[in-house]
Amino acid sequence: MTSSLKTRLVLAFLSTIIVPILAGVLTMYLGASNPDEEEEQLDRLFIEVREEIRAHEENLPDGDVFYEDIEPLLNHYDMNITIRDQDGQLLFDSVNYRQRSEENSFLPGFNTFTIQTDSETGAPWEVTIDAGSSEREPFQQMTNVLHVLFLSIGIGLLTLLLMIIIWTTYISRTILTPLKQIYKATEEMRDGNLDYPIRYRRKDEIGRFIQGFDYMRQHLKESSVKQQQYEESRKELIASISHDLRTPLSSIKGYVEGLRDGIVRDEEKKRHYLQVIHDKTTHLDHLIEDLFEFSKMEVDQLPMDKEVVNASDYFKDLLHNYQAELIDQHVQVTYTENIDSVSILIDPLRLSQVMNNLLENAVRYGSDRIWIDVHSDQNRRELVVRIADNGQGIEEEDLSYIFTSFYRAEKSRTTEKGGSGLGLSIVKYIVKAHGGDIQVDSEEEKGSTFVFTIPLYVTGNAPEEDA
Ligand code: ADP
Repeated sequence: MTSSLKTRLVLAFLSTIIVPILAGVLTMYLGASNPDEEEEQLDRLFIEVREEIRAHEENLPDGDVFYEDIEPLLNHYDMNITIRDQDGQLLFDSVNYRQRSEENSFLPGFNTFTIQTDSETGAPWEVTIDAGSSEREPFQQMTNVLHVLFLSIGIGLLTLLLMIIIWTTYISRTILTPLKQIYKATEEMRDGNLDYPIRYRRKDEIGRFIQGFDYMRQHLKESSVKQQQYEESRKELIASISHDLRTPLSSIKGYVEGLRDGIVRDEEKKRHYLQVIHDKTTHLDHLIEDLFEFSKMEVDQLPMDKEVVNASDYFKDLLHNYQAELIDQHVQVTYTENIDSVSILIDPLRLSQVMNNLLENAVRYGSDRIWIDVHSDQNRRELVVRIADNGQGIEEEDLSYIFTSFYRAEKSRTTEKGGSGLGLSIVKYIVKAHGGDIQVDSEEEKGSTFVFTIPLYVTGNAPEEDA
């Protein structure tokens, strides 16, 4: 599970505070020696001091005698004592009686304890004990405690430093490194390289940002590829328009000139010339119509005027008309008589354009028999239309390109009968705009089968937006 950046930052701050404190406390806990024993030793010292003072209390006014009384105790613990009365008046200070100067080198304020002792008069005295050396028991215990305290603070600070380093490294890895990559990717994009993906697997805020950035890159790449294709197809379009328009136009010109100059006198020949001119202008008309449709398709503005129709009624009429037309062209048509009575949401004119194109192609590419099958597939909730012919077929290497604009298979390019190469791309566009798909299967010299689908219209289905 990936935690969000916010959670990780909160964690970072909390752990930077808590972990060093814990480390310090733990060190103190482990480092502290047995506190009971230490207290016992100190208590024993306080009791001994108190007892000793009380035992020689009467000698206190004579400092020398009192000092002699308590000297063994002072030497034993290597300490100094000061006694004051309750008004703070100094009654005795052992420093004044010590002989050797080096023994006077106490550490003032260090390991200093103040104890109260009751004098016989009932007024409490305040006894201050200064340790001569912090290395000697029981003062050493206190030194140890101080050492442990310093050690704990040291370890706490070290842990704090460590935590800061760890989190800084971590944050720089999770935030700064991807930011650097984004910066690099931006530079690459600026230089025109749109193939520079950023790898970042986490799904946190940065991950989402990078994902968005990558979508933008891919989108830019797609638009740039599209733009290139568009440019290519523009070039192709201009080349093919000039070629396709020029060929029939020059033959029309030749025939018209022949007629104008009176070269043709024979009525039969004249009629033939006029027929050729008529055929060529029809061809030109088709080409221009295809180009017009294509240009609208290119800008996604081929209008679709959809309505709900009954597939059975629609296709029955359509196929009946085609059958009559095709018989005139000596093509035998077999089609499904009983078409399922299902509803489809279509633009009737555009769908007839699809059928028209596919049937025209079948005839154009050498078929004299066409089989049309229309049935509904309830499982996939679609209407399936299959148009099979026994024409010249399509070579395997051409199959995947025939739906591309301006693509004409080698065979049709070399013959006069070829069209603009736009028919099938317009067909595919219309089928897709209806939410369907189109496939082709073909075997050379045996024939081709085109199958397209249109989704069934179920009441309550929102009509698809016009393409
Ligand atoms: P065209 O205007 O050249 O027919 P299309 O886009 O309609 O352009 O078709 C593209 C190419 O697909 C054609 O040039 C032809 O080679 C091939 N083709 C299409 N339909 C058939 C078919 N029924 N039989 C054989 N070849 C076909």
